[in-house]
Amino acid sequence: MANVFGKAAVAAREKTGAGGVLAALLSGLASCLSPPRCRLCRSPLLGYANPFLCSACLPEIEWIGRGACRGCGFPAGPHARLGRDCTRCRGKNLGLTAAAAVARYRRGVRELILSLKFGGDTEIAGLLAGLMAERLRTADFLSPDLIIPVSLHPERRRRRGFDQARLIGRRLSRETGLPLGEDWLRRIRPTRPQASLDRFARSDNVQGAFAASPEMAGKRVLLVDDVMTTGATLRDAARACRESGAGQVYALAFAR
Ligand SMILES: [Zn+2]
Ligand SMILES: [Zn+2]
Repeated sequence: MANVFGKAAVAAREKTGAGGVLAALLSGLASCLSPPRCRLCRSPLLGYANPFLCSACLPEIEWIGRGACRGCGFPAGPHARLGRDCTRCRGKNLGLTAAAAVARYRRGVRELILSLKFGGDTEIAGLLAGLMAERLRTADFLSPDLIIPVSLHPERRRRRGFDQARLIGRRLSRETGLPLGEDWLRRIRPTRPQASLDRFARSDNVQGAFAASPEMAGKRVLLVDDVMTTGATLRDAARACRESGAGQVYALAFAR
């Protein structure tokens, strides 16, 4: 996985548009003067192949691979039937055709995502998207026509200054060549941050929070978000997509 990490991270440094060459030169100069630091322990990374995490922190990531549940993306273990018989989603209808995730939402991954969302380290979105693109390539049960980020409510986006799901969605679109329906799924009412609520309150919190564009009728859409915890947000987003006629609704989150 170290190579994948390296590749994603290199891609995360690409600059586009006018002034890109100058920006790249300046950032190269800056990284010589103050080398990039590990996103978790802040140790300098000069000489490391991976420009995001040091070799001590990289094993902090618990990757989710082929043994995962295709219904909810949770690691279901080697005994799961066809990868769908997991205790997390048995009996629950998430409304998803299939789902996948890249890593467990624990330890280092949790810290990375908190640095992205609340520390404003938006380069991390590129790193996550690169790894999600890799997951999408290996998960043959996900075959979307287009990418739909599970965006923030415009009010929260304005306060935060960015929208991590959109950053991830744009990057994933560039890496995979799949079109992006950035405004095809909207939060029509503000919700409280899911992390501040318990499992039961989470479901109520997002109920009816989304509206989806009728343009997605008949399309196979891939909902993209940084984290999937209880699945309440994705379930509500998936319901809105189905109501607008989406043919299949897949979900891909970085962390599960
Ligand atoms: Zn480290
Ligand atoms: Zn499951």
